[in-house]
Amino acid sequence: MRVLPKRKLRCSFCKKSETEAARLIAGAAGGYICDDCVGVCNKILDATPSPFKSWDELSEAQLLSAIKASEASVGALHSLIHAQVAALRKRDVSWAEIGKALGVSRQAAWERFS
Ligand SMILES: [Zn+2]
Repeated sequence: MRVLPKRKLRCSFCKKSETEAARLIAGAAGGYICDDCVGVCNKILDATPSPFKSWDELSEAQLLSAIKASEASVGALHSLIHAQVAALRKRDVSWAEIGKALGVSRQAAWERFS
């Protein structure tokens, strides 16, 4: 019997490993989110009253809090898409296919992710 090496689980947003994050929550599509990233999401939700009407209706403190949280989530999503594209490239999926999935040209996909 062959023993497969244990794959380290990671947060799909910030890439923290299971040993670095206090908690990891599994998603339905095979992704994970750590407690810190859930905290960022909660800050975004807290700073954005529901039902959302307009940015003009938020206080300056709410907007300042929201931009910090948004910046953190942009960074996390940036890491996520780069990891996904890297996984596709490791499987020899072409830049043309990646570009098609993103609705951009092969060249645009290559320039953005290589
Ligand atoms: Zn995370």
